[in-house]
Amino acid sequence: MPIYEYECKGCCNCFEYLALSPNEPAPECPECHCQDVEKLMSAGCIRAAGIAKGSGGFSESACKPSG
Ligand SMILES: [Zn+2]
Repeated sequence: MPIYEYECKGCCNCFEYLALSPNEPAPECPECHCQDVEKLMSAGCIRAAGIAKGSGGFSESACKPSG
């Protein structure tokens, strides 16, 4: 079973999700429980990496909790 990595567009949380089937719908964010998540490909967690490095190479405004 493949494990996919997702990134929440609402709170910038990155999480891994075990897909039980190929047609598994996108999970919800375990942090803010929104379903606005994006499956990450080989690039990994871009925004979180930007936060960790403090590079400022991403838009913080695109990553605010939606409430
Ligand atoms: Zn979230």
